[in-house]
Amino acid sequence: SLTAGIVGLPNVGKSTLFNAITKAGAEMANYPFATIDPNVGMVEVPDPRLKRIDELIPAKKIVHTTFEFTDIAGIVKGASKGEGLGNKFLENIRQVDAIVHVVRAFADDNITHVNGKIDPVDDIETINLELSIADLDSINKRYARVEKVARTKDKEAQAELAVLQKIKPVLEAGGAVREIDFNEEEQKIVHNLFLLTSKPVLYVANIAEDDMAHPEQSEYYQQVKAYAEQAGAEVIGISAKTEEEIAELDDQDRQDFLEAEGVEESGLDRLIRASYHLLGLATFFTAGGPETRAWTFHQGMKAPQVAGVIHSDFERGFIRAETISFADLDQYGSVQAVREAGKLRLEGKEYEVQDGDIIEFRFNV
Ligand code: GDP
Repeated sequence: SLTAGIVGLPNVGKSTLFNAITKAGAEMANYPFATIDPNVGMVEVPDPRLKRIDELIPAKKIVHTTFEFTDIAGIVKGASKGEGLGNKFLENIRQVDAIVHVVRAFADDNITHVNGKIDPVDDIETINLELSIADLDSINKRYARVEKVARTKDKEAQAELAVLQKIKPVLEAGGAVREIDFNEEEQKIVHNLFLLTSKPVLYVANIAEDDMAHPEQSEYYQQVKAYAEQAGAEVIGISAKTEEEIAELDDQDRQDFLEAEGVEESGLDRLIRASYHLLGLATFFTAGGPETRAWTFHQGMKAPQVAGVIHSDFERGFIRAETISFADLDQYGSVQAVREAGKLRLEGKEYEVQDGDIIEFRFNV
């Protein structure tokens, strides 16, 4: 399954955020397979639609879909030179599918900042520069060899060389590969280069508790937001400390706390959902049996592949997907009413499953 890696300078609140994630994960009722890797935290993806579906198609229990975060130990300046544990950090980042970049946006004289001052944009750039340098190293290692093969009129090498030529100057200027426009064919080549700066990124501004209800009040948050915007990335304001404290509460107590603070949803829930979308993931549901359940699929996947998320037999023996959309169920109030309105669809092999589809798969065994 896909995972988002939590990255950031030392002392910005990464461990605090990761603790919130593992504590929230430990509260999961329906997830018996605790992961053994201490650097991986599994959480439920919050989805209010599950409760509504369960009201209309009652089942014994509700099962959320899950999402995984990986804790990546503090990266430091010089990581790309292999200083200290530098290489290890970069290797760990290479293993993840998206980057959650945590940056300090709270003032606290008792907590040392590695650079002696709080400057979120400078912090972001410190890390991003390390990643660009590391990518430039990988590109340069490949470049000479690919260039040589390209001279033999090898089509594949020529295509790769063109991509490398596009990437190189951007990295040399300290930029990120994700900011370059590639066509579909180039995209495939880029994918195979396993570059760090091509991974999708999300910025988390770790704001002071007092700013929780109104992150925009924080000047530091504003700075991160401006940076993220020009980079085409999303930013989320979170108080990691508060998230850690409330992760252990039961749902009702947490809800009460958030309401009293004037916040609709916990920062962790916002982070989980944003990371999920960052990775191009979407949700379909199954209902009508003993459980009302959410499942994760990749946007763009077709019905048989999506059936395979549940069981490989479903994919192999796929006949059709009896589908209703959540919006229709919500509007008409029952499966029967949806059917009578002619909104129950029999979808075949070529159907691209949509977020919110409630599906019953028909298959041969
Ligand atoms: P890491 O090195 O990035 O993993 O940072 P930690 O999570 O260990 O946090 C560094 C220090 O900052 C710890 O003493 C935390 O308690 C503190 N800290 C983390 N988040 C916040 C916050 O939102 N507000 C305040 N005041 N302190 C925080």
